[in-house]
Parts: sequence; C-alpha cells; structure tokens
Amino acid sequence: MLKKAFQNKLFIGGEWVDGIAGATIPVLNPYDNSELCEIAEGRAEDIDRAVEAAKAAAPVWGRMNASDRGRLILKLADRIEECTEELIELEARDTGHPVRDARKLDVPRTAACFRYFGGMADKVEGFLPPVYPGMLNYVQREPIGVVGQIVPWNFPLMFTSWKMAPALAAGNAIVIKPSELTPLSTLRIAELMHEVGIPAGVVNVVPGYGHIAGQRLAEHPDVGKIAFTGSTATGRRVVEASAGNLKKVQLELGGKGPNIVFEDAVIPAAIGGSAFGIFHNQGQACIAGSRILLHEKIADEFLEKFAGFAKSIRLGDPLDPATEMGPLTSKMHQERVLEFSKIAVDQGGEVITGGKAPEAEALSKGCFVEPTIVKAKPGDRVAREEVFGPFATVMTFSDDDEALALANDTAYGLGSGLWTRNLPRAHKFARDIHAGMVWINCYKVVHPGSPFGGFGESGYGREMGFEVMREYTQPKSVWVNYDAQIPPHYER
Ligand code: NAD
Repeated sequence: MLKKAFQNKLFIGGEWVDGIAGATIPVLNPYDNSELCEIAEGRAEDIDRAVEAAKAAAPVWGRMNASDRGRLILKLADRIEECTEELIELEARDTGHPVRDARKLDVPRTAACFRYFGGMADKVEGFLPPVYPGMLNYVQREPIGVVGQIVPWNFPLMFTSWKMAPALAAGNAIVIKPSELTPLSTLRIAELMHEVGIPAGVVNVVPGYGHIAGQRLAEHPDVGKIAFTGSTATGRRVVEASAGNLKKVQLELGGKGPNIVFEDAVIPAAIGGSAFGIFHNQGQACIAGSRILLHEKIADEFLEKFAGFAKSIRLGDPLDPATEMGPLTSKMHQERVLEFSKIAVDQGGEVITGGKAPEAEALSKGCFVEPTIVKAKPGDRVAREEVFGPFATVMTFSDDDEALALANDTAYGLGSGLWTRNLPRAHKFARDIHAGMVWINCYKVVHPGSPFGGFGESGYGREMGFEVMREYTQPKSVWVNYDAQIPPHYER
C-alpha cells in the first residue's frame, strides 16, 4: 500500500481533474508486480487542455520578477527535502530503486537541481555587442512560452527536476508527460509546487501513453519547445512530430558508454567505479558504462575481481536498507534484458556471471536480473546495442590506438570513462573520445552546474549548467538608433 493516496486524476491548471476519456493506467510495483494504484490516463484532448492552461499562465510567470520566480523554486527545494522519507518510499515502490540509492542520490539530487536553478532564475543576463556609432544593440533572453517535456521511467523523480527546474527558472510554463510506468513522483512534485505557491497553470502533469499523449504533446502547434528523454527510436518520432510548427527540440537519448581500464589503473578504484557505472539503478541509465574495455595486461585480474564484486551485490526488496540492487522497472524490460544474454551466447560470447533471473523464491515475482558480465567481440549485438540493464559487455585491447578505436566504435556518444594514472593519456582521450561527457578515474558523476547531453545518436541540446538556460530561452536582438538621426544606410 502507498502511504499517500493518489487521486486518479490529471494535474491541469492548478487542479486535479478527470481525464476526458475516463480511462486509467495501473501502476505496478516491480518488486512483486502487485498493483500500487491506478492513475488517470491522459489522452490527446487532455494534452490540449493542459496546453491551454499553460498558455494562459506563461505570460504571467514569464514576466514575474525573476527573483520572485527563483524564490518559489528555492522554496520547492526546501519542501522536497522536508518530504525526503515520503519521496524515497514513493520512488522505491514505483521504480524499484533501492531506498539506499534514493536516499543518497535521487532525492538529494532532485532538491539540489531545483535549488541550483532557483538561484539561476535572476542571473540569465543578456549582452550588448558593440555595433555602429549612434546605435545601441542589446540582446536579451526571453522564455519560449509553453514547453512540452517527456520523461522516461528510469529516474522519474530526478529527471522531473532536470526538466522542470531550468524551464521554470527561465520563465516558461510546462506540460510534462511522465512515463506511463512511473508517474507517481512527478504527480507528487506538481502537488508540492502548488503548495509552495507556483501559480496555477505554470506546471501541468498529464500521465499517459507515449504514442497518444506524448505524440500529441510533440506535435502540438502551441508548444514552442519539446524536451525529450528516452530511446533514440522514440526521439526520431518526436523530431518528426515536431516539424508541424518547427518547435525547438532537445533530445537526451540512448548510450553505449565506453569505460576504459588501462594497464596503469588503480584497480580497486576502477572496479568500484565500473560497478557503479553499470550496476547502479540496475544498469537502467543512459550514461551506464556498458562497454568495459580492458587492457589485455590487466584483463584477467580485473575480470576475476569484477565478477566477484558483481556476485556479491545484494539483490532484494527496494524498501530494505540493506538492498543494493532492486528489480528492473517492468516485466517486459526484464525479459528484454534476459534475452540479450542468449543473443550474446548465440554470437559466440561468454557469460562470465549472471545472465539470468535470481533463483531465490523471495525474488521470483519481481523483475530481477542478476548482475551480468559478458565477454564479446566488437561487432556483436551486445557490443553495439543499448541493453539498459545490469549487463556489462567486456572487450580487450592491446594499445591506446585500439582502445580509442573501440571506444568510438558506436553511433552513440553520451557518457564515457577512463581509468589511468597517465595524465597526458587521460587528456588525450578526453579530447578524442566522441562523447558529451568524459569521466577520468570516476564514472557517472553529475552536477546541476555541468552540462549533460550527448553527441551523435545520443541526441542534441544539453540539460543543466548555463547551457540549459539557452535551451529554454530565445535570444532577442533589439536595435536602438538612440540619437534618432537617419541611420547611415539611408543617407543619400
Ligand atoms: P521510451 O523512448 O520508450 O519512452 C520515453 C518517453 O517517451 C515515455 O514517457 C514514453 O511514454 C514516451 N513516448 C513513447 N512513444 C512516444 C511517441 N511516439 N511520442 C512521444 N512520446 C513517446 O524510453 P524508455 O524505455 O522510457 O526509457 C529508456 C530509454 O531512455 C533508453 O534508451 C535510455 O538510454 C534513454 N534515456 C536517455 C537519457 C539521457 O539523458 N540521454 C536518460 C535516461 C534515459
């Protein structure tokens, strides 16, 4: 049972309203596939209503004193911290995140993100380019108006903050569609926003299926920008749907992150960091270090210890503080991830550990997959396709050139990492790896101040840092002929 009762409604215009079609979506607990609650399913007409509400609220919010906007967002950050216990439990039940992770990462990072962008609200400065004598040109950044946001199921709480915080700070009104699998924390955040005084209509939450509600949001003519996080295949559909009104698009898509361990790496650090890179959140992370590239001199030693680490990870009930790995977020996804072990073996790969659901009776109803390590060759499907589970594909290399070629042998380009004590080599790889983020002797470190996003088929645009404020604003160049004389090009 959930402590908080979810009203089976959509959050539109500052109120809980019924979905027009009266349809519902069951929300399941992936630990045992029991039903947590039902939520209202938003359809295209509900998205239209939400866009209307956002359109009405956008000018008020956008023209509010930016410091006042910031103050409301800061208040929300405090309120999220006050609700820490409730949000930890909600996220654990809805997604399968172990409470120890939700306590250390999901909830504090969510509060930190709102706090960072609350502070940013009144610091979005314009500039004055030097132009012609007698003329002034100033450039200001304006909100876009109504922005649509579509988020996936792997970090629903945290991604709600990554999407909403900068958009609000910049003065936009939002319609957000959480994943149909994990809508609860987004609904709760909207409620907290209302409580702290963010005006009605500024944030609207419409849970629903992607091909219906998501599709309508992406194509809606009154939505000026769509920010999407999800798979590369869906990202392409969003781009197509956005073409009608040529809205701005920001895409955070899939990845197949190379994680390179050189012969001079500090092996215990590389093992701990690589395990975090691929096993944290059951590997359901776009930035997961899912291709582990090992120098052949240390490959055997690393693999033996890494497999030992993987086998020691405690799988269990996400609500148990001792649990280190919970279930995957859905049954369908569990089956997909398990299938990849078969695919690996069919292509000549070797399963070093895992590759199956755990045998323990207590876990048999849940969507669990054992931490899996597979040896493969560069062309194999498990070396190219995103598995999005606790599934490490391991390959070896003999020198730096081969390591770089393997690292860049992907259509994606999101996260990447390397473990070495050789400083020139680390910087050379940081320069040459085709990826939006490079971690040296660490993995998957993020901060609201540092831009997050990918190259190639991992998408375009950036979350976080000042970069994201450019995504949620548009520059306007204003020309002033300040001595009111005829401008030079009209002189005869
Ligand atoms: P998904 O693409 O299936 O769904 C993502 C969201 O899009 C969901 O809310 C879904 O309902 C919606 N959607 C589905 N079809 C749609 C359509 N036709 N139009 C509009 N919206 C639609 O992805 P998922 O399975 O929920 O998440 C996993 C994927 O997300 C992985 O590929 C992962 O790498 C990626 N991801 C990327 C990042 C990043 O920042 N780059 C972060 C997390 C996850």
